[in-house]
Formats: sequence, structure tokens, C-alpha cells
Amino acid sequence: MREARIRPAAISHNVEVLKAIAKTPHMLIVVKANGYGHGAETAARAALEGGADWLGTADLDEALELRAAGITSPILAWLFGPQDDLAEAYEQGIDLGVSSRAQLERVAAIAAKNAPARIHLKLDTGLGRNGVDPSEWDAFFSAVQQAQKAARVQVIGIFTHLSGASLEADAEQGREFDSGVARAHEYGIVPEIRHVASSIGTSDSPALAHDMVRVGAAAYGVPVTARYREAGLIPAMRVSGQVILTKRVTAGRGVGYGHTYRTERDTTLALIPLGYADGIPRHGSSAGPVAINGEKFVVSGRVSMDQLSVDVGDSPVTEGQWAVLWGDPAEGDPSANDWAEASGTIAYEIVTRLGARVPRVVAP
Ligand SMILES: *Cc1c(COP(=O)(O)O)cnc(C)c1O
Repeated sequence: MREARIRPAAISHNVEVLKAIAKTPHMLIVVKANGYGHGAETAARAALEGGADWLGTADLDEALELRAAGITSPILAWLFGPQDDLAEAYEQGIDLGVSSRAQLERVAAIAAKNAPARIHLKLDTGLGRNGVDPSEWDAFFSAVQQAQKAARVQVIGIFTHLSGASLEADAEQGREFDSGVARAHEYGIVPEIRHVASSIGTSDSPALAHDMVRVGAAAYGVPVTARYREAGLIPAMRVSGQVILTKRVTAGRGVGYGHTYRTERDTTLALIPLGYADGIPRHGSSAGPVAINGEKFVVSGRVSMDQLSVDVGDSPVTEGQWAVLWGDPAEGDPSANDWAEASGTIAYEIVTRLGARVPRVVAP
């Protein structure tokens, strides 16, 4: 009665488009957060099929899950805490993004002699989040140099993440990154892969592409820039729920919790079994679009935990039909971005928060 149709072919297609835009020797597709809600393994395989040669995750467990599924490509994971088992990531050949001297020391300590751990140095060039602050670069690079000499680490990459505050702010981060790379060289650290841009940077700051880009949203067909809207990306997720009940009601009828919607005339209400427990934003109450039979409606009243109602007037909506909340506008569906706008958020949040209760149905 509810499903998310996932199209791996759309992801593969999008990756091909992205490769043509980025023109970098390497392409990393980010499959964190269950492949942005699409299913991590499905997304990973589709990305590799489309020509990606790297995968990226936030957590180590997400990376290990891909290895357990038999995926052998390079995988970079950049978010871990003091309780995480780095040894297992090392044994499974996961590249680790290292953001501090303490992390470096932990990684170096688990590596066997002459089997260095593969790492990417993460620099904070202005996002103010993960990564080594410029004031600590010298001490950090010096420690990396030691660990490299002792064959405990092999520095595969060096990277940073952009704030997207403005094109100028991103360009400034790019310059800061270049000076960080130059500083690393002074310590004999010459990583093969420099990577900076994610979806938005890949689209709008081509000068920051370097050797690899790390793309998430755009690979799933979420067009996060004007350029992507022109590029023919295909949304890989379509979320729909079956109309499980229709009923005629009279004018003046309150609908849903709080009676925030009232029917204006005699009308038909359609009940859809999708709610905020499934990741449908409650902020989309009386605002989020719903397409049934190619006709566009709007949620009527509150989105509740498991269900939402749609006033369909006198349209010939019947039980068993499918109501699409977001999917591919080229097929007449509302988009994840439409839902984001209706809910005061971004399309990233719409796709990644899709709940576990919605079965992912992989379509050819
Ligand atoms: C999530 C993430 C990305 C991907 O960002 P998109 O905007 O989805 O392309 C890239 N790099 C890092 C470090 C991330 O955390």
C-alpha cells in the first residue's frame, strides 16, 4: 500500500551526466544515509555501473555494509567517533578521512607494519565542521610525515568540504585548500587525489574540481542547482501510497487532527497511508502536492503519523489507485523539491528521511 520505486538506471544515467560535467579523473558518489534514502547497495552498484570509481559514506558501518555486500571499489568514510572500531575498517580496506592528530594516531596504531592504513587528510578550509584547522596544519602534517615514514599510513587523498555560503566564499576555501596542499608537500606528503567539490561545487565552481568530486544529491536526480535542472538528471525515487479509502462527505467537515482543513462543499476525501513516521514532513500539512491519476492535489489538513487525507472534489479517484507524493516531474509527478518548498526545507531532507516502513521497490 506504500512504496518507493527506486530506479538504479536513473542513478547510472545521472553519474554519466556528472562525469561529463566534472571531467575529473575520478568520481566519488556519496551513498551515506542509506544511499540518500534510496538503498545503499542499490545506489552503490548503480553508481559504479554509471562509471563512478569511488564510493563515499559518512559512518564506518555504512562502508562496512557495502563491503559485506561484496562491493570491492575504493570506499572513503569520513565520520567516526572514539567508540568506532577502526581495525575492522582497516581490515576491510576502507579509506579513512582523518580530521585530527588524535584520529591520525588511532589509525596509525591499528595498521600492521608495512601494511599502511589508507587515509585522506581532511582540512577545514572554512566550513567550521570536520577537518584540521589551518592553525594546526604544521603539527598535523609533521605527524603525518612521521606515520608515513614508519609505513603506518599511506596518504591517498587530501580534501575539504565547502560551505556553499556563496561562490566567493567557496572560491576562498579553494585558495585555502591549495595553500594546505602546498604546505603538505613541504612535509613530503603528496596525495594522489585532491577532492573538494560536492554536488553544488561540481556544478557551479568548476575550478575546484581537482582530481575527484564527491557527489551525492545530484546523482539521485535531485537538481540542486540551475545547471542541474538543465542537465537532464533523472530522479531515482518515486514515493507513492495507494488510495486505501474514499468517502463522500458534506461541506463544512473538519479533516484530520486540529481540524486545520474544512471541506468547502460536498466532496470526496481520499485517504493515503503515508505519514510523518514514513518521512512525509508534517510541515507539509495542507501544502504538500499529491498526484493521483495525473491530476495534482494538495494534502488536506495535517499529515499525521501514518496517514494523510486529500480532498479530491468530484475527480474520479477510486480506492486502489496510487497517489504520488514525489517522483519524476517528466512523468507528471510532483518533485522532492516541490515537497521541500511546501515544507520549508530542502530536497535532501525529503529523500533522506524517507522512513524504513516504506518498501524500496527496485525498478528496471
Ligand atoms: C554529504 C557529503 C557530500 C555530498 O554532498 P552533496 O551535496 O549531496 O553532493 C560530499 N562530501 C562530504 C564530506 C559530505 O559530507
